Amino acid sequence: MRTVEFDAVVVGTGPAGSASALVAAKKGLKVLVIERGPEPGSKTVSGAMIRIDEVGKVFGTDIPIERQVKRFKVIIANGGDRVNLDFPVSGLGTVGRRKFDAWMSSKAEAAGAVVITKTSVTGIKRTEGGIKVLTDRGEISTGRVVLAEGANPILSMSLRIRDDLTPEDAVQTAKEVYSMPQTEVTKRMGLSADTDGEVWRVIYVNKTFGAGFLYTYKDAIAIGAGAPMKSMIEKKYQPNVMIEDFKEDLGLKQLLSGTSLREYSAKIIPESGFPYCKAGIDNVYLAGDAIGLVNPLTFDGIGPAIASGVIAGNAVAEGWDPRKYEEALKYDPLIKSVISSRKLVKQLLSTGEKYVTLLPEIMKRWASGDLYGIRELVSENAWTILKDLTLLMQVRK
Ligand SMILES: Cc1cc2nc3c(=O)[nH]c(=O)nc-3n(C[C@H](O)[C@H](O)[C@H](O)COP(=O)(O)OP(=O)(O)OC[C@H]3O[C@@H](n4cnc5c(N)ncnc54)[C@H](O)[C@@H]3O)c2cc1C
Repeated sequence: MRTVEFDAVVVGTGPAGSASALVAAKKGLKVLVIERGPEPGSKTVSGAMIRIDEVGKVFGTDIPIERQVKRFKVIIANGGDRVNLDFPVSGLGTVGRRKFDAWMSSKAEAAGAVVITKTSVTGIKRTEGGIKVLTDRGEISTGRVVLAEGANPILSMSLRIRDDLTPEDAVQTAKEVYSMPQTEVTKRMGLSADTDGEVWRVIYVNKTFGAGFLYTYKDAIAIGAGAPMKSMIEKKYQPNVMIEDFKEDLGLKQLLSGTSLREYSAKIIPESGFPYCKAGIDNVYLAGDAIGLVNPLTFDGIGPAIASGVIAGNAVAEGWDPRKYEEALKYDPLIKSVISSRKLVKQLLSTGEKYVTLLPEIMKRWASGDLYGIRELVSENAWTILKDLTLLMQVRK
């Protein structure tokens, strides 16, 4: 079997992988990036909302944005009872992952990294001189490896760097993308221009307590829903049924009527990870979803993946001890915020359902002038609110 040599090998062309490859290649390393999909982004659930500055400061500002998000909607829904907040925003954009991942990967290539696709990494072996990366197309000799393999980190788990994901630590999501002409997206969403976008974040209760979203792309609308995997298993609730219920509850069927379903996907989001698992062992560094760096409060995974990828790129280039790598991760503001949000989210998963009932009820009582009723509701729930506020005060930047 043919063996080739590189200073560093990066597994995955997601945001974490491309960021680490870009940084390491810029520092002069001979870097190989390996992606199992036919092209970057083809294996990733299709699209997302990004914070433009978090991406721009690493990869440049020519981001292939689908739409600039101009309006952000927060919906708290308990059946027919809802609270809707709607406000203008800036600095946010929507991206399609095929174009976005290909763009990030091209930036790593422009910095000197070599990217190969249609190749799966099947194992990592220590040798006397370094590390052997095993793939379904041959072996690569290298000194350092970044595992940016996403939410199902088989290699990281097989190396025992992190434990298997358990239902307690994961959110099951389902997503659908509906195609329509660009002007139709603009019209149906009531937007002012074909480049403007809208994003929804929804907290709701159906068979389980869950969260959902709506994103506008250039020529499509994406919707998604997610719920704690443990409660989905307990209630035998399937992802495809969850997304049907979500559409029904939010009245989305009407919004999407007459359009064609372009994509359905179901994926897990890890809700725990580093620092409860290691982020590296000698010369092997984990980044992004592989160590569970999705912010469970804001659902941002791309920013923290890029931030950890940049740190991994520096670690690879300078041969950091794994402890130095982990310390650097802990000091990054985005990653700090992910870690410090987890406690609150764990608690909200047990108490959050209460707010979904409470907030619309408070608004209803306010509308009917029942201020004493609001006082009663708040005092009945004061202990829960206080506990949650205490954890909110621990969220760090
Ligand atoms: C439904 C849903 C909606 C989301 N919405 C948002 C959002 O709006 N905003 C946001 O910021 N985040 C969002 N996220 C989270 C975000 O997608 C992830 O946090 C982010 O993609 C993580 O980046 P990554 O580089 O760690 O992993 P990934 O993007 O998953 O990339 C991993 C790559 O590694 C490749 N790979 C894996 N194993 C191998 C192997 N053995 N050999 C070769 N290649 C391999 C994969 O094919 C993939 O291309 C969402 C997630 C889901 C599931």
